[in-house]
Parts: sequence; structure tokens; C-alpha cells
Amino acid sequence: MKLTTLAFALGSCLLAMTAPAQAVEAPLLADIQTRVAAVEGRMIAWRRDIHQHPELSNQEHRTAKLVADHLRKLGLEVKTGVGGTGVVGLLKGDLPGKVVALRADMDALPVKELVDLPFASKAKGKHMGKEVDVMHACGHDGHTAILMATAEVLAGMKSQLRGSVKFIFQPAEEGPSEAPHSEDEHIGALAMVDAGVLENPKVDAVFGLHLIPAFPVGTIGYRSGAILASGDTFTVKVSGKQTHGGFPWNGIDPIVSTAQIVMGLQTIVSRQMNISKEPVVVSIGSIHGGNRENIIPESVELLGTVRAFDDRMRDDTLARMRTTAESIAQASGAKAEVKFLKPGYSATVNDESLTARMLPTLQQVTGGKAVVSPKLSASEDFSEFQKKAPGMFFFLGSTDPKRDLKAAAPNHSPKFEIDEASLAVGARAMTALALDYLAQP
Ligand SMILES: [Zn+2]
Ligand SMILES: [Zn+2]
Repeated sequence: MKLTTLAFALGSCLLAMTAPAQAVEAPLLADIQTRVAAVEGRMIAWRRDIHQHPELSNQEHRTAKLVADHLRKLGLEVKTGVGGTGVVGLLKGDLPGKVVALRADMDALPVKELVDLPFASKAKGKHMGKEVDVMHACGHDGHTAILMATAEVLAGMKSQLRGSVKFIFQPAEEGPSEAPHSEDEHIGALAMVDAGVLENPKVDAVFGLHLIPAFPVGTIGYRSGAILASGDTFTVKVSGKQTHGGFPWNGIDPIVSTAQIVMGLQTIVSRQMNISKEPVVVSIGSIHGGNRENIIPESVELLGTVRAFDDRMRDDTLARMRTTAESIAQASGAKAEVKFLKPGYSATVNDESLTARMLPTLQQVTGGKAVVSPKLSASEDFSEFQKKAPGMFFFLGSTDPKRDLKAAAPNHSPKFEIDEASLAVGARAMTALALDYLAQP
């Protein structure tokens, strides 16, 4: 998940719901709990092993092998190299029925771990041509271990399973770790969709989860409709005419134009978007231009991100950004060229009827601790699966309930850590969602 700081408080915004009748039957729930408990020790060991050996996007070779070997041992049909280093396992139940997909992401981040753990990462990797420290700072080690455990539990329940479960282990959720080979290169979820991961057999519904420190262990955060924002990366190149800093009138100053463009882009959100409908965020994360005090440079380059929850507002913002930057530059004789890195991430939008249908299951496995989550302006490429099949993505609380939630390091922090008790909750939820979805006509 591409994340921003989670500055929301749990409490009044989160509404516990009571569980309607059609959730998992009590004996089945007890069976799931027993089976998850039986695999929990190994699930934690897998998570620690993956944590100690993190791999950057599209370099998840060791992790993919660990996953594929495990799925083969369970007797699943396994495909490797799907959309890069992706692994897909198909479990066919003994009874006829629909097809449900469960997804985990496998990649780590270029972050130096600052958590004091016996299995803390000391790994290095290559990010954009440079050697970097690598860490599972977003919890994808946990997601992978949860789905490996879920596969084992469901494989053990094959005789009572209606239909099939597709286990999708995805690479490169965090975006590229090397420069794209072409402007339209697909990686991660989209590359797996291109490779036909949701076909043959065709997937009827897809579920995914994300560990999140803003919720306590035992709690699941869900939301109908948009839960995560779209994410578009953009660059702006502002070109002027280089000259001596003492005689600016002899050139065209791209630095002053850039300053105006940065401010102008912010007025798109504050003055032109109907933010009472949905929020939009435009952020510039990098500005580069010039190399000394008395030379006005030839050009300046900006790099930033746009987040939105509504497709039309997203498209409108991107169009207005181009007009704003180009017009402001033109006013001083400079030139602005705006580029959006393709394809951006769409908003993660949970199917309303699927969410309503599966909510009782989430309530059942958490003992009524599934709560409405605020929407977050982070983004996820799980949205690519949701474009092809109804999908539901939810948050899995990962902080020890005795700790201060606000003090917990957020995803992508070098101090990010999870309480491993969260893994069993995740495995129970994924197992129950698959069984329950397939049990219903
Ligand atoms: Zn992330
Ligand atoms: Zn993530």
C-alpha cells in the first residue's frame, strides 16, 4: 500500500455492527479456529523468514519459491512467473461451485529497518540502479504468510469446499524498483490481470487485506465503496533560458515559474474541486533545478503525486494540472511540460453488495469487531482486480491493543512492526470469507 500518515483517531468514527444471521455457522467457525491455530506457529515462522529476507518489487524470487513450494506440497495447481514473479495456486473443492480469489502481495520497500528484532532485516537490494537497504515496512511479509496458512487450512477442508479458491501471490504492489522499460509497462496486479489471473477459471469475487497499525489486533476495518485513493505520479519540467543571476532580464527564470506552479497546483484542490463530495490531494515531493547561487538554470523538474476517490474528480484534477502549469509558465515565456506516469493506481472501491453480503462473516470471525474504516488517501493496485471482478479489501489491525495506537509507527516507517497475533485473525478472516462466499448460492 502506498501510504500517508494515518492521522485518524479510532473511536466515534468507527461503528461496531452486530452480526446478521447468515454468517459462518458456529461449528464451522470453531473448525476454522482450530485449523488456523494448528498452523499459526508455522505461519509466524514463515512471516519471520520472509521478514528477514525481504525482496524489492519484481525481485521476489526467494519469496515466490517459498510460496510455490508450499502450495505444491498442499496439492494445488501452481503457476509461477505470472505477471513477473507472481505465483497462483488453484484449489479445487470436491463440490461444484463458484470461484473466489484471495490475494496477498509479496514485495518489500527500500527502507532501513530500525526495529530491534532477532529477525530484523539486514538485506540489501537494487532500487533504481542503487544499492539500498530493504525492509518489509508495509507488512506484505504478513500478508504472504497469512495467505500461505489460509491455503493450508482450505486445502484441509477440500471435501466440504464448494467451488474453487484461487490464491494470488502478487509481486510489485509498491511500484517499480527499476526504471520502466516503456511508458506503458504494466507491473504488479495489472501485469497479473494481463496474464489472465482472473480467468480460467473465471473469478467471481476477490478479497484482499492489509495490515494496519492504526487498528488494534482483533479489529478489522471495512468500508463499502471507496476505501483507498487513486494514486497518480506526475512530473513537471519547467524550461526557461539560462542566464547570470545578476541579470535575470537576459534569460527566462524557470525557478520563479516553478514557485508559481507549485502554488497554482494547490489552488486546484482548494478552489476548483468540490471537496464536499470527495477529497483530493496534490503533493509535490521533489524539486530539482540549478547548481549555484548566481546562475539562473535552464530548467527545473518537479515530481509529485495526486490522490482522489472519485474517477471523474481524478480525471478533472489531472486535466486542470496540465492547464495550470502550462499557463503559468507561458505567462513568463517559460514552458511547462506535465507528464503522468502510466498507468496510475485507481481508487480501491469495494463492491457495495459484496461488502454487505460478507460483513456478517467479518463480524463472526472478529466477535463483532469489524468496524467502519475511514477512507485513506493511500493507494493500492488491488483496484486492478476490482475492475474485473467484484472485490472487497479490508484492513487488519496489527497493533497490540495495550499499546497507544497513535504512537504506533505507520506503514512505510523504518519502525513499522506488527503484533503477530494479527496473523491468525487474518487467516481466519480469509478462510471464512472464501468458505462463506462459496457456500452462498
Ligand atoms: Zn506499502
Ligand atoms: Zn502495502
